[in-house]
Amino acid sequence: MLLAAWIAGRAAERWALADLRRTAHATLALQVAALHAEMQKQASLPLALAADPEIAAVAGASMSQDPALSQDLVARVNRRLAQVAAATAAAVIYVIRPDGITVAASNAEAERSFIGRDYAFRPYFRQAVATGAGSQFALGTVSGRAGLYLSRRIVGTGGVVVVKIEFDGIEAAWRAGGDGVFVADSRGIVLVASDPAWHFSTLRRIDEDERRRIREALEFGAAPLAEMPLHPIPGAPDRVRIGRGAAPARPALALDAAIPGTDWRLHTLTPLGGAVERERVQAWIIAALLTGLACLGLTTLADRRRRQRRRLAEVSARREELEGCVRERTQELTDANRMLRLEIEERRRAEAERERVEAERERVEAERERLGRELAQAGRLAALGQFAASMAHEINQPLAAIRAYADNAAILMQRGRTTEASENTVAIGRLTDRIGGLTRQLKGFARRASPRREPVPLDAILRDGLELVEARARGAGIPLVVDAPRAGLHVLGDGPRLEQVLVNLLQNALDAVAGRPDPRVTLRVSEDGDRVGIAVHDTGPGLPEALRAQVFDAFFTTKSDGLGLGLAIARGIVEDCGGSLTAGDDPAGGAVFRMDLARANGTAEPEAAGYREARH
Ligand code: ADP
Repeated sequence: MLLAAWIAGRAAERWALADLRRTAHATLALQVAALHAEMQKQASLPLALAADPEIAAVAGASMSQDPALSQDLVARVNRRLAQVAAATAAAVIYVIRPDGITVAASNAEAERSFIGRDYAFRPYFRQAVATGAGSQFALGTVSGRAGLYLSRRIVGTGGVVVVKIEFDGIEAAWRAGGDGVFVADSRGIVLVASDPAWHFSTLRRIDEDERRRIREALEFGAAPLAEMPLHPIPGAPDRVRIGRGAAPARPALALDAAIPGTDWRLHTLTPLGGAVERERVQAWIIAALLTGLACLGLTTLADRRRRQRRRLAEVSARREELEGCVRERTQELTDANRMLRLEIEERRRAEAERERVEAERERVEAERERLGRELAQAGRLAALGQFAASMAHEINQPLAAIRAYADNAAILMQRGRTTEASENTVAIGRLTDRIGGLTRQLKGFARRASPRREPVPLDAILRDGLELVEARARGAGIPLVVDAPRAGLHVLGDGPRLEQVLVNLLQNALDAVAGRPDPRVTLRVSEDGDRVGIAVHDTGPGLPEALRAQVFDAFFTTKSDGLGLGLAIARGIVEDCGGSLTAGDDPAGGAVFRMDLARANGTAEPEAAGYREARH
């Protein structure tokens, strides 16, 4: 701000000075023109008056020695001169005789008239006498007023007519203008000045010889010819300071120009102080204000830029943070996704593994089933082996017994003991029956491999089965209660073998109730949807839990004469027919064996006949 103010002040000062200089130059030219015009106006006056015959007569009057004529003429000339002076604003006009004595003057009537004064010493007189015209600026010896004396030699007489011009009016006008204006001659002595104090002061030092000459010529009276209080300013050729002593020196623009037709120069002193100072201060203020405003604007701008940058930085930081979050989240999601994919893959693998295991399990199951079947078959074969062995054993015993009975019978018959012999034959018959039973069972066991599954009438199976055990039951006094099935009820299976199963179950029941307090065997048929149940209840000792699992095992028997094959074979037959055979306890006491078969739709009489045929 200070620098700008200083620069602006300097610039303003320079502009103001240039402005002032322009104006001052214009003023100077005007002043010169005005002064020159004034002097020109007056300069022609002596020439005109010098040609005047009356003036010439007055100038030569003393020569003619005619006082009467002269008095009159002089008075007339005096009046004329006064008129001309008044008309032309000349200070004084007067006529000097060739001897230097003034004979006529425009101020002849005035108290301090020039008439009779001797001006032979004046240079303007001498110049006019010598050359025809002269001029001199000097202080009036009579009037004490300074002025320009313009002289002309009067034609034919040797006298001189003089016009004195005073510059009071011009000086007053200059003073009113405010500027310092003065005119200095070639020696630097101020002749006319706006400030009366400057009159006859000098621009340069006047040496003593010159001073003496001036004094002797009474040019400027007793004026001390002191130097003007102008002090040049270093570095500023057209500027000076005006002032003397304690008075403050005022700076001013000093210009000068020659006045045409003279060796004078007109000087102007235009004060700088006010205008330039004002301009400078104004420039300072404006520059300070502008730079202040600019600084404020710049500061505001910078502040805004800083805030904007900060905001941008914040936004970018936030965005980065957000991007970081997004990246993190994306990473998390990607990780989760990867984990999910891994998990899916794992599950898929687990599923494949499970399927593989399942398939393996199924395969193992099938294998086991196959092995089971093979084992069962092997078991069967082994059982068959055992069976064959025990069969051989079972048959051998009755055979041995038969042999013994037969031998005994023969001996007894030889001895005539026929009764005993017949008892022996009865025993042989019983033993033969036993062997027959064994072979029948063996036959059933051997036929298992090719079961038939066809609709067979259930009542036929029951009827034929019961027929085989009825005699025994009746003989043992055991009631055989039958809950007959509805007519035409058919089951799927192999008729003769199902009858074999039924006979086995009934015989087991008769065995169980034998010797029991309330022996009874009940046969019940039930229907449940497409299933048909045939249950044999007895009032025997029942089946304890431990026994229930074993009764279907081959060769398991609790009977002394039992083979333990009946139930094993029976279950095989029922299962081959697509049914099941189970054992349990009757809640009413005793055991219950239940055959569960598939119901067949419709009756096939020819097949039933076939079944009968096969049985027989
Ligand atoms: P066996 O009759 O030759 O012993 P089974 O296979 O027919 O052969 O019978 C096996 C065993 O089951 C019998 O020895 C017997 O202990 C038992 N059992 C069968 N039926 C009954 C029943 N109704 N009550 C009690 N126990 C029975």
